[in-house]
Amino acid sequence: MARKHSTDTRKYIVIKGARQHNLKNIDLKIPHNTFTVITGPSGSGKSSLAFDILYAEGQRRYIESLSTYARQFIEQLDKPDVDLVEGLSPTIAIENKQIATNPRSTVGTVTEIYDFLRLLFARLGKAHCPACRREIRISYAEDTVNELLKNHDRAKIMVLSPVRADSKNLRKVLQKLEREGFIRVRLDGKIYEIHEISNHVPDTVGRLEIVIDRLVVDPRKRSRITDSVELAYRIGEGKLVILESPDKEFLFTEKYACDLCGINLPEPSPRLFSFNNPEGACPRCDGLGFEESFDPELIISNPELSIREGAILPWENKNSVTFYEQLESLARHYKFDINLPFKDLPKRAKEALLFGSGNEEIPFYHYRGNRRFVHKRRFPGIIPFLKQKLEEAKTLEEKKELEQYIRKNPCSLCNGTRLKKEALSFTYHGLTISDISTMSVKEAHEWFKSV
Ligand SMILES: [Zn+2]
Ligand SMILES: [Zn+2]
Repeated sequence: MARKHSTDTRKYIVIKGARQHNLKNIDLKIPHNTFTVITGPSGSGKSSLAFDILYAEGQRRYIESLSTYARQFIEQLDKPDVDLVEGLSPTIAIENKQIATNPRSTVGTVTEIYDFLRLLFARLGKAHCPACRREIRISYAEDTVNELLKNHDRAKIMVLSPVRADSKNLRKVLQKLEREGFIRVRLDGKIYEIHEISNHVPDTVGRLEIVIDRLVVDPRKRSRITDSVELAYRIGEGKLVILESPDKEFLFTEKYACDLCGINLPEPSPRLFSFNNPEGACPRCDGLGFEESFDPELIISNPELSIREGAILPWENKNSVTFYEQLESLARHYKFDINLPFKDLPKRAKEALLFGSGNEEIPFYHYRGNRRFVHKRRFPGIIPFLKQKLEEAKTLEEKKELEQYIRKNPCSLCNGTRLKKEALSFTYHGLTISDISTMSVKEAHEWFKSV
């Protein structure tokens, strides 16, 4: 059957029903081997057509043609909102973004290099125990083979790799496996030849495993067993199943673990080395590299002053009766004099003022006419109070007002590296990804030449 657009697509890129962003369901043809300029008023969808349709679709098709293994390292692009794109060749896009090339650029600030580093570390990073820094060797295929030879000698086994599939993509997955030369799968516990089910896929799909090999465990077959186990781990992304009989199966998992400390490391993946991804970002600073906290030294900028003279800056302009009643109640409870320089107040009083009274309830007195009322409550402290105000601040002015008491410090957990310790447990020629990304581009170039 002749394809509908066969003559057109040799000469044109044919686009039908493009609706991405501002595009209003447009059809068009763009001639091949010409220099085509897209013009139009701003907001008419020029960039959507060029980047979100043509470039994205070309990239998406290219990525789809890669192996599952390679694909997991590449950000998947969504299918653009378009009915049809034909006659498209692989695409590249050049954006007119300006890259500042100043001598202080580090590898980390040039994102393309950092992305390359993430791949490098995912593939070649050496794992170290985060606690004892011992190198963790990963010879799991070998361990698995030894285990099989020791505990399953002479057993007739099947080596299976679990793969992910659902009823929607099962057919595609099966066809791909068939093309790759696999013959059998186990679907929900039953063994099938792939061709038996690739055309009649069941409605519900649970567990799918590929049969990698069937063999009898025998020390003389060590190299074949090793090959099968290695292949099974690769296909199963670190997992394999040894099936001895329908009710006797064993799951093996490749793991990065320190036997001494009992610590497991995650599989190194490019995501693990990204501070923009929860898998890699330092949990304390969310990958920012610094922590912001209210700093007592900024709040009490001159400890020679007394509270009455305005030692506590956020309280500088407070002078209502209620405020002084509260202050006097605190002074009475913590036994300090509000006319004394702040630095000379008792330690307990200073801490309570800044960080709150904790669980301690303080009697607060206030006066209405000649009557004195008292009620006991905790004192929240200036810093927790400022924190709450910052959370509730709505205007930029309010925020600015509060930010003068905030100091940015390198994150105390990741030391400013922005990554979680698991990511920093992998090294390449002795350096962590953070060590390399803080090098200048020139230093990194020299270093890479030397390794
Ligand atoms: Zn250890
Ligand atoms: Zn951090």
